[in-house]
Amino acid sequence: MLTALAVLGACLMGAREAGDSSAAAVAVTVRAWRAAHEVSILSELAQLLAIPNVASDRENIRRNADAIVAAFARRGIRARLLESPDAPPAVFAEVQEAGPQGLSRRMRSAGKGAGAGPRDLPPRRTVVFYAHYDGQPVDPARWTGKPWEPVVRDGSLESGGKDVAWSALAAPVDPRFRLYARSSSDDKAAIVGLLSALDALKAGGLARSVNVKFFFEGEEEAGSPHLARILRDNAPLLAADLWLFCDGPVHQSGRKLVFFGTRGVTDVELTAYGALRRLHSGHYGNWSPNPAVEIARLVASMRDDEGKILIPGFSDDVRPPTDAERRAVEEAPGVDETLRRELGLARTEGEPDRIESRILLPALNVRGLAAGDVGARATNSIPTEASASIDFRLVPDQTPEKVRAKVEEHLRRQGYFLVRSAPDEATRLAHPRVLRVVWGAGYPSSRTSMELPASRAVVKILSEASGTPVVRLPTLGGSGPNYLFTEILKAPVVGVPIANHDNNQHAANENLRIGNLWDGIEMYAALMAKLGPSL
Ligand SMILES: [Zn+2]
Repeated sequence: MLTALAVLGACLMGAREAGDSSAAAVAVTVRAWRAAHEVSILSELAQLLAIPNVASDRENIRRNADAIVAAFARRGIRARLLESPDAPPAVFAEVQEAGPQGLSRRMRSAGKGAGAGPRDLPPRRTVVFYAHYDGQPVDPARWTGKPWEPVVRDGSLESGGKDVAWSALAAPVDPRFRLYARSSSDDKAAIVGLLSALDALKAGGLARSVNVKFFFEGEEEAGSPHLARILRDNAPLLAADLWLFCDGPVHQSGRKLVFFGTRGVTDVELTAYGALRRLHSGHYGNWSPNPAVEIARLVASMRDDEGKILIPGFSDDVRPPTDAERRAVEEAPGVDETLRRELGLARTEGEPDRIESRILLPALNVRGLAAGDVGARATNSIPTEASASIDFRLVPDQTPEKVRAKVEEHLRRQGYFLVRSAPDEATRLAHPRVLRVVWGAGYPSSRTSMELPASRAVVKILSEASGTPVVRLPTLGGSGPNYLFTEILKAPVVGVPIANHDNNQHAANENLRIGNLWDGIEMYAALMAKLGPSL
């Protein structure tokens, strides 16, 4: 502890003497503060992780929200819950900067280049940090340990990591250690990272350069069904010049990542029908239609094995990536070879295209197929029905509505009569091919220009803070509700994830590499300290 404090003192003095207020100097100060507080940061995160957080578990989800409000209160910040009927509350907090124009204003479109503004501008821009405190449901049987009993291990389970007792944990904590628990990386790490960034700036005597707001959602993993309403109901409160989306993993190379969009998503369940009862395949095969074959043919009619979508018109609305977006992808360090080895893949779809450019395209993924039985349970019979479960990832400017229409048009052209629920006998007798089509919810993609002054500023600050250029990606492969911030609040959204890529996100044994949390605290502190003049 003493050594760490001495380091902190030396750093502060060093930074001040040199008059150095660069993002790199902020990172150095924050690092020294963190070095002296590693165990308390981890215990604050562990306490939050010990509260079960599935969005449908209303009692526990509220305990999470209350715990976050209490965490702000410990720092003298009054957080509040933004309620919507039948929804987990969002947690909102705000740290206003004093100053003659301490109010938010919209981004000025006649922007200056990053860093071009005078250094002593009064703090007045507002940035909202988004994270979510709910997590995916768990299957406890698949976990080593329990999902809501946080465990530190001295490496990943896959590499033979062993438990480290909480009582044995002491600074300096090896950054390669992992913290295991549901939401350790997705997305409670970001919440504790942001709170710690506030602490570090305060302790280091470093001012924030922007008004900082926090918006922590409680049902992101349930598809954010009430988010639009919460944003609309609280639009003035949530007004900002920039939203920073603190969710998702960093680049697979381990380098820090800034992303400027998320893909949209929609999904569908398709069911084809055969005879009313299972028939002997010898007596009736070649005569009674086989729904398993029909579903297989339908899937093959929609997508080839290089990932190309074959549905006519499906990609009509796809906006091609800009030159800047293409360049950013080319500049990202290559990870395909390493990933192929890690995942046991001799080939990838669309090769030689790299993964970062593949996610710029829309995708059709078969989530699952079901028909009859296999293995020991297989019988020589014709199944009565067969299903395919499919998700589509969408890119700008596709919409779920238009995509659904194109898919249905294609299915009809394959000779199918479409129904929304299980067909009755009359329907089955009236149409040679019947297909049940049930769509899930969906939303469009979002994409912020990489060339906005705010976008450039985030990249510049994080590159300076970490001493290496960050990876810039036009979009994350995954989906997020980001389009709501741009559509409802008219604010640009930039993604600043901190979790390790191999975090078992959404699966059993979710984990956070502790070094990624340390990086996250520095990143968030640098953004709070440096964004103002550059916006
Ligand atoms: Zn998440």
